[in-house]
Amino acid sequence: MQGRCPQDGTRPTARDAPAPPSLWQAEHRWAGFPPLEGRHTADVVVVGAGVTGCACARRLAAGGAGVVLLDGAEVAAGASGRNGGFASAGTGLGLADAAALIGMPAALALIRATVAALGEMLALAAARGDPGAVQRTGSLWIAAADEADDLRAAVARLRAAGFTCREAPELVPGPMRPRYTHAAVFPGDCRLDPARFVRAVAGAAADAGARVHERSPAEALEPGPGGWRVRTPAGDVTARAVVVACDGRTPRLVPELEGIVYPVRGQMLATEPLADTVIDLPTHSDHGFVYARPTPDGRLAIGGCRSADLEAEYTDDQRPTARVQAALERFVRDRIGLAGARIDHRWAGTMGFSADLLPVAGELPGRPGLHVACGYSGVGNVQGFVCGGLLADGLLGRPAPLAEVLSPGRFAVDGRLRPAPELREQAESRRLRPLLPA
Ligand SMILES: Cc1cc2nc3c(=O)[nH]c(=O)nc-3n(C[C@H](O)[C@H](O)[C@H](O)COP(=O)(O)OP(=O)(O)OC[C@H]3O[C@@H](n4cnc5c(N)ncnc54)[C@H](O)[C@@H]3O)c2cc1C
Repeated sequence: MQGRCPQDGTRPTARDAPAPPSLWQAEHRWAGFPPLEGRHTADVVVVGAGVTGCACARRLAAGGAGVVLLDGAEVAAGASGRNGGFASAGTGLGLADAAALIGMPAALALIRATVAALGEMLALAAARGDPGAVQRTGSLWIAAADEADDLRAAVARLRAAGFTCREAPELVPGPMRPRYTHAAVFPGDCRLDPARFVRAVAGAAADAGARVHERSPAEALEPGPGGWRVRTPAGDVTARAVVVACDGRTPRLVPELEGIVYPVRGQMLATEPLADTVIDLPTHSDHGFVYARPTPDGRLAIGGCRSADLEAEYTDDQRPTARVQAALERFVRDRIGLAGARIDHRWAGTMGFSADLLPVAGELPGRPGLHVACGYSGVGNVQGFVCGGLLADGLLGRPAPLAEVLSPGRFAVDGRLRPAPELREQAESRRLRPLLPA
């Protein structure tokens, strides 16, 4: 099934060419759900069955709403089935940067929501009879000299705010010690098998009553007297609300978000099973540009290195490229010391970044009933779960305390969304600072 892109029916382009499956997609057997056919009604239609859409549909259905969940390809076809599988508390910004944008109380509340979500994700996988889909392993941040001050300051700030983490230079994997002198461990973080986990969430949504349809791309969202009509090639759904959860592809259906949410490609590879995995915990380094983790069968899965071809990686084409793959291989050989390891899998995925690097979740200004959740800026496994749930809570009339700070309305000028190039530039220069020449 995988690799039969286009992922959705909107403006198919060369970027929608078939993409190789991730290791997780290739290894997971999935019976799937049938396409949508005919005319239907629902309380809410959710478009996009990644972690965000599945979490939203599950919470809505469990709360008694009539839900249809659609995916243009299949559940976990996008970044949610293609990522590194780090399920980490926190956001795409450090605590200090998040607090500078939304204030310390909201920044802390957002991190606390991700901590709570990790507990919910573990419980959900266990309740579905698949505890191996999420495991509390902890995660490791390792730093070379140029990142050491950032690491120390971040750990001090988080500890002062009551979060559990500590400096742990002794945990730097042996072969990486000459370069990486500092480390911090986050014991509450988890390791995901991302496709398996998201499909467990979709199963839970279906069991709670959500009607799930794959191979059902939303071609158009049409406002009307009964709410929103979502058209797919073989059927349509009319609902009082629509949630668009297509992450980097959200602006294709919601053009108001152009310039506010944009696609970024991430690439990965996985080695053959190794006698010694070297890296025991999900470990990130190089200012977040490299992340590596072992798999249960002893492979090393590693991703990132998009700094090797930065401009080309602003795309929603899910195919890997020679340049970034070569950079990943060099990292495996030169920094991890695994010369000669066979590479068994190579893949890519695209994710949504937002202009200020915080999630964009809520109803669009001036478009009653049209909701989005996207833009996790590289860190979406847990934030997507949180934001899908947050939208569901709002639609069910429950308190959703983070709704205001994450609302797309923060990008509105005179009540209408405006592209935010200056915010994007500021965010990018902050993020890319370590890569730029001094
Ligand atoms: C290589 C890589 C590594 C990453 N590593 C991590 C990590 O380790 N930890 C972490 O937290 N985050 C990571 N991320 C980011 C994370 O994967 C994403 O932020 C998250 O999965 C987004 O989830 P989502 O459900 O919002 O979107 P997606 O998973 O992209 O799901 C969107 C869905 O919408 C569907 N769709 C699109 N258009 C339509 C349409 N018109 N109609 C119907 N359906 C449509 C797609 O088929 C897709 O299934 C990584 C991303 C990549 C690419």
